[in-house]
Amino acid sequence: MSVDVIVIGGGPVGLATALYAVRSGLSPVVLEPRAGSVDKACGEGLMPGGLQALAGLGVDPAGHDLRGIRYVARGRVAEADFTAGPGRGIRRTTLHAALSEAVAAAAVEVLPFGATGVTQDDTAVTVRTDDSGGDGPTLTAPWVVAADGLHSPTRRSLGLDRDHTTAHRLPGSGGVARTADTRPLRRYGLRQHYRIRPWGDHVEVHWGAHGEAYVTPVVDDLVGVAVLSKQRNPLSESLTEFPELRERLDGAPVVTSVRGAGPLRQRTTHRVAGRVLLAGDASGYVDALTGEGISLGLAHARAAIAALVADDPQSYEQSWRAATRRYTLLTHALVQVTRPAWTRRLLVPAAATLPPVFRGAVNELARPGR
Ligand SMILES: Cc1cc2nc3c(=O)[nH]c(=O)nc-3n(C[C@H](O)[C@H](O)[C@H](O)COP(=O)(O)OP(=O)(O)OC[C@H]3O[C@@H](n4cnc5c(N)ncnc54)[C@H](O)[C@@H]3O)c2cc1C
Repeated sequence: MSVDVIVIGGGPVGLATALYAVRSGLSPVVLEPRAGSVDKACGEGLMPGGLQALAGLGVDPAGHDLRGIRYVARGRVAEADFTAGPGRGIRRTTLHAALSEAVAAAAVEVLPFGATGVTQDDTAVTVRTDDSGGDGPTLTAPWVVAADGLHSPTRRSLGLDRDHTTAHRLPGSGGVARTADTRPLRRYGLRQHYRIRPWGDHVEVHWGAHGEAYVTPVVDDLVGVAVLSKQRNPLSESLTEFPELRERLDGAPVVTSVRGAGPLRQRTTHRVAGRVLLAGDASGYVDALTGEGISLGLAHARAAIAALVADDPQSYEQSWRAATRRYTLLTHALVQVTRPAWTRRLLVPAAATLPPVFRGAVNELARPGR
């Protein structure tokens, strides 16, 4: 098989990478060991920028239009509508099916193998693979884009994981590491679906004492609930801290099993190692708090292929940073600011009191990527 780029991982970012490759005249192959329409722990809210990027690829998955974001806590509500057009709540399985269909229509092969190792020289990368039955084929191509998710085995094997346990030394701390507020926070996500008619057209974020619950309408009779928290309690237990939401869901049948992911924060030292580029969650992740992961990954996919077409893989470091900066700054700031219990209590009242600030932050994240 002669291809220009091997894409490791057939999640939304890997499949979009393959589509961008075809559009740029490159011939890709995708490695994805999971069969069928792949499901995953996700809030499933696609921001307007991501929806527009999908449309640009000719992909239009069914879902529920989203007008904006609504924060809810103890009877207080802050709401901001998107100004760049609607977003969309989309079941992951629907998104995966729509992208897979587009990839098949573009005659891209998706091989049912996982990558087990990557070696490279000045001209090519070789990827070893396997499946449940043992060794798979060994593939060679000029380039690899690894979009193999939050715990990317490719990232790890290339030594691109950044140590995220380092204590930060603060000015004025007398050289003593003060880790209480700056220590990286390990947060986890869980999600499940309820058969119930959506009660709004916003992604609703319920703020509790320890975590947040995201409600995303994904079909006319289905809502997804994702809980993000530093605690690793069962979902049913986590939901007890959101009484308004529990009341809404009372009696609604649960129609999917719980899926989880984490720790969410994953940092990378570099996004390029020779002829291998990292994209999507594999390239680093802050938190799901701002619902940006898919949109951001689509921007990475486009930028990675642009760098390969220009035969300048290193330029991807800069375009990755440009695409990721807003998300990293705002998401990191929000995660840090809402660590103490008192700021968590104040957040929604403050957002409700300052609508332009809330609207500005929501739309800063929602706008289309570069
Ligand atoms: C609780 C939660 C809520 C979220 N909410 C939202 C939201 O509302 N909106 C949003 O935009 N984002 C959200 N996200 C983030 C979003 O889910 C991710 O950013 C997105 O899935 C990243 O896509 P990806 O293709 O990079 O990775 P993934 O979707 O993880 O896909 C990676 C793929 O790589 C494959 N793979 C793994 N190892 C190998 C290997 N060795 N060889 C080949 N293939 C391999 C896997 O099987 C998988 O299919 C949320 C995340 C969580 C955890």
